[in-house]
Amino acid sequence: MSDSFYPAHAFHQAFAQGRASGDLSVGAAGFCFRNDTQSVTLPLEGARLTLGGASDRIVFIAHPDFPDWSLYTSDRAILRDPVLTAHPELTVALGKMRRKRVHNWTMLAAISAVIVAIPVALLLNMAWLTGIAARQIPASWEEQLGKTAMGQYQVQADMIQDPETARLLSELTGVLTEALPDARYKFHFYVAREPSLNAFALPGGYVVVHSELLLRADSAEEVLGVLAHEISHVTSQHGTRNVIASTGMFLTLQAALGDASGLLGTIASAAPFLLSQKYSRGFENEADAQGFDLLQRARIDGRGMVSFFDKIKAEEEKIRAKVREQVGDDAGAMLTEIPEFLATHPTTDSRIERMREKAAHQQGPFRDMSATFDALKTRIREFETEHPAKETAK
Ligand SMILES: [Zn+2]
Repeated sequence: MSDSFYPAHAFHQAFAQGRASGDLSVGAAGFCFRNDTQSVTLPLEGARLTLGGASDRIVFIAHPDFPDWSLYTSDRAILRDPVLTAHPELTVALGKMRRKRVHNWTMLAAISAVIVAIPVALLLNMAWLTGIAARQIPASWEEQLGKTAMGQYQVQADMIQDPETARLLSELTGVLTEALPDARYKFHFYVAREPSLNAFALPGGYVVVHSELLLRADSAEEVLGVLAHEISHVTSQHGTRNVIASTGMFLTLQAALGDASGLLGTIASAAPFLLSQKYSRGFENEADAQGFDLLQRARIDGRGMVSFFDKIKAEEEKIRAKVREQVGDDAGAMLTEIPEFLATHPTTDSRIERMREKAAHQQGPFRDMSATFDALKTRIREFETEHPAKETAK
């Protein structure tokens, strides 16, 4: 056992925020990470060491037998640890890492040349690059990111925590999640007690619907239309891609070229960013189109999505008229009065028309979820009567 302890971090589901700080030591048994609550030892035999982060300053350690654990340290002295340099298999790995560093500089030079040569083209393709980079991110990381952001949201929000509401919501949303072509994400749906027409999704499959949206919807199809749109933001990794874009061009390019280690070290702290992000028009259009396809696979009438968009549009016009009446044509005041869903989901006429066009060509027969939807609405009204609103909720 060497005497050195390296300051390190570990990613694991068991930690409250998915990540914790601690000490890393290297011994004959392996890489031992320890903090107040957890300890793990990844055997030297079969351990995978990779470099990541800006200028490859971070050493990542993983082991195929411990897939839930990921350790990293920014103390590169670990690469000179006597236990590692004496280990035959790891000596080879360390040598490879030194070569990889050189290779990365070569790659950086090549990337710089591309950036200089066609900056405009690259900027235009940032969405495309983040798409490629996002596919390098393991689903478990997105799940952890979404879970952390959801935890932060719940601290502020007034959630409807009621088994019957959860059961009915899961019955309703099950028709969509069962129709998804793959099971990369496990979806979790929540109702927040909020008086605005809003819904949002976080990476990894966390979806929140405001109670007002459920109560104001006139059919199961309207709610399922909104939820199919939100589910598509998750499956298209839109939140994750926004986080990736926020880390900057270099880490995005590095990840797009197959080395996501730098990105993984950065996105772990992105939860607050996720709660305030907005999607681009392009992402909204993609979520509309994929959401509509999902409704088709689930045999849900897409006209509900169209009628809910009409409803949001009408709400937007009503609020604009009211604000204009009260404060005159003050654009700033108008913006603060527009509910979140309208601010985060601009419903342009072209979006609604595209949906209407798709709905006109869809094929029935459709599934009837009205009994579940009616029961859900009734249950939410009952719950709100039984439980007076939390004082702290806005
Ligand atoms: Zn959206």
